[in-house]
Amino acid sequence: MTFFDKILDVIFPNNFKCIFCGCEISASCPPYVCDRCVKILPFINGKICLRCGEPISSLSDYCIKCKDNIRFFNFARAPFVYEHPISTLIHGFKYRNQKYTFESLAKYMEECYIKNDFQTDLIIPVPSSKKRLKVRGYNQAELLSKQLSKSLGLELETDVLIKVRHTPPQTTLNYFERQKNLFGSFTVENREKIIGKNVLLVDDVLTTGATINYCSEVLKLSKAKKVFVLTLARTQSELAKKG
Ligand SMILES: [Zn+2]
Ligand SMILES: [Zn+2]
Repeated sequence: MTFFDKILDVIFPNNFKCIFCGCEISASCPPYVCDRCVKILPFINGKICLRCGEPISSLSDYCIKCKDNIRFFNFARAPFVYEHPISTLIHGFKYRNQKYTFESLAKYMEECYIKNDFQTDLIIPVPSSKKRLKVRGYNQAELLSKQLSKSLGLELETDVLIKVRHTPPQTTLNYFERQKNLFGSFTVENREKIIGKNVLLVDDVLTTGATINYCSEVLKLSKAKKVFVLTLARTQSELAKKG
């Protein structure tokens, strides 16, 4: 940003920039996304697995993973597939104007929440371990949850689901290895806050669903009535792409 741009920003504070390409836009409320970028966003529009929300092209109502495994969450949904430019943005959160970025991305999650008729009482973000927090400095799931809590008018509870053990990165592990890796990694405190309640569990990206499934199991063992999951994006397996 040049000195002149900085002065313009002070004089015209509504000079918003597209969170993806940085071009100037005339928006006064989120999402701060230009007309060109909104056209290439990887929205999930077609047929999805009724349980986990993965785009599928089979005749069945459920994906193979949901057919073969016990799912503790009632359903999971996301507005986007985890592809460029969403994936690029998630990687670059740290280097962007976070306030605009999170407001914008949470706006898409809010739309997804309304469209899918979620009925929840409170929001719980998937927590990071202390080790990861130290490296990153913040938890993306919590920042998205904060915005959603404001826009949906739901209480945000960050002292219920606690990560007690750091788990090694899971990117190279399959679903079963992830389940093993996660065992004993989350616990519930202040359980009176969730007894008989419908919980909205929020995370940034859903990959195999092992983490949210494990969190949902722990929440339900602590007597949460139902657990619904909302993530910003979700990956799509090669199998599902091929149909
Ligand atoms: Zn743009
Ligand atoms: Zn599924």
